[in-house]
Amino acid sequence: MSDSRPEVVRTVAALRARVAGWRQAGASVGLVPTMGALHDGHLALVRRSLAECDRTIVTIFVNPTQFGPDEDLDTYPRTEAEDLRKLAALGVDLAFVPAVEEMYPEGFATRVSVAGLTEGLCGAGRPVHFTGVATVVTKLFNQAQADRAYFGEKDYQQLLVVRRMVRDLDIPIEIVAVTTVRDADGLALSSRNAYLSPGQRAAAPALNRVLREVARRVAAGEPSAAAIEWGRAELLAAGFDRIDYLEVCDAFTLEPVERFAPNRPARAFAAAFLGETRLIDNVPVE
Ligand code: AMP
Repeated sequence: MSDSRPEVVRTVAALRARVAGWRQAGASVGLVPTMGALHDGHLALVRRSLAECDRTIVTIFVNPTQFGPDEDLDTYPRTEAEDLRKLAALGVDLAFVPAVEEMYPEGFATRVSVAGLTEGLCGAGRPVHFTGVATVVTKLFNQAQADRAYFGEKDYQQLLVVRRMVRDLDIPIEIVAVTTVRDADGLALSSRNAYLSPGQRAAAPALNRVLREVARRVAAGEPSAAAIEWGRAELLAAGFDRIDYLEVCDAFTLEPVERFAPNRPARAFAAAFLGETRLIDNVPVE
């Protein structure tokens, strides 16, 4: 039957009908939300779900509510046929690929917003982003009724926001975190890497290299401010055009950490631009 997979459904009603049958049969269900343009990072989430759940649903939806007015909604890569081939090769059961009108019908008026965690890092420069994410993820959770959902540490702040939301709203789903998948030179895989020119692609691994060095310095006792100052200069020297943020934050609250303490897990986070392309990454301080 693998040649008929994944079944592609585009309506909430069809998704619900399929999942209801699985649940009645006692199958566990894993959900992997994506915006498509699938790469090996997404596929790591998919493989994990396939290994841990009887059935796996991958959603492909470029969610307009999480893009700001000046962001790349219109140019975001859309590669549905290729995405479905990749999912077929792994044996994914179902792809949920709704149109915007299916997710946000005429009159849609509700937003889910998470305070605190969304204020710094990506939330500071992208004011509507996490409300859009929390809203669409809540919808996907309610639509799919999965047992587990898989999220990448690449978007670490998003992962914490989703965990907080699930706890606060008593959504009955387990959130599973998956380690960031990188190219051999350290660059975190991202759909947005497709925007990079060859020269920008050559500069891009500096983001991870600098983050790892900032984390190393902070772990060795250097104050965060000094390590960050070094890192900002290094990123600009490596060819980044603009730095949105470079910070060392508590791994649970995302509050800035002035000095690392081994009993308080921390991570180094960055977002920086190569031309118009905004790349993000984060690494643990250990
Ligand atoms: P996106 O399609 O960018 O919304 O990402 C969908 C999911 O894949 C999110 O949970 C991301 O954190 C995750 N993801 C994206 N890139 C990577 C990566 N390089 N490694 C692991 N997970 C990733």
